[in-house]
Amino acid sequence: MPRIELVTGDITVQQVDAIVNAANSSLLGGGGVDGAIHAAGGPEILAECRRLRATSLPDGLPTGQSVATTAGRLHARWVIHTVGPVWPGDGPEADARRALLADAYRNSLELAESLGAASVALPAVSAGVYGWPAADAARVALSTAAASPAPELIRFVLFSPTMHGVFTEAATALGIEA
Ligand code: ADP
Repeated sequence: MPRIELVTGDITVQQVDAIVNAANSSLLGGGGVDGAIHAAGGPEILAECRRLRATSLPDGLPTGQSVATTAGRLHARWVIHTVGPVWPGDGPEADARRALLADAYRNSLELAESLGAASVALPAVSAGVYGWPAADAARVALSTAAASPAPELIRFVLFSPTMHGVFTEAATALGIEA
C-alpha cells in the first residue's frame, strides 16, 4: 500500500524518483507547472520531448496518457509527462472527462512503477489553466492514488495553501490517510 503525502510547495525541488508534469498534448512546453519543470530541469527535457514527437508520438500525447523523459538537472531521475483533460463545465461531458483525469493519474503511477521509481511527486493535474474545479480535481487525484498498488510514496505537491486545504478536506471525506 502506498503512503500518500500532501505538501505545499514547488514540485521542481522535490527529492523523489519521479516528478509528474501536467503537460499539454504537444509536449513542447507551456505555462504553469510545465513551464516551471522545463525551466528548472533545463533543455534536455525539451530535447527528449522533441525526439518523442519525431518518433513514437508524431501527433502528440493523447489526453489521459503518460510518457517519461529524463529529468535533466532536477533531483528526480524521471519526469513523467501526462495530459489532463480541460474542464468541460458541468454537464454530460464531465463524467467522461473525469475518467480521463483518473487515467492521467493511473497511467502516470503505473509508468513510475514500471520504471522502478519508489517515490513520485504529482501536481494537481488540470486544476490550473485547464480549469478543473479544485475539490473535484482533489477527489479524482486522491481516489486514484489510493487505489494504486504503487509506488511506495505518492506525494501531491500543492502550489498554494488553499489547494493543500482542498486536498486535505477531500482526503478526510474519502477516508484516505494522508
Ligand atoms: P493544467 O493545464 O493541467 O491545469 P497548470 O500547470 O496550469 O496545469 O496547473 C496545474 C496545477 O499546478 C495548478 O494547481 C497550479 O497552481 C500548480 N502549479 C503551478 N506551478 C507549480 C509548481 N512549480 N509546483 C507545483 N504545482 C504547481
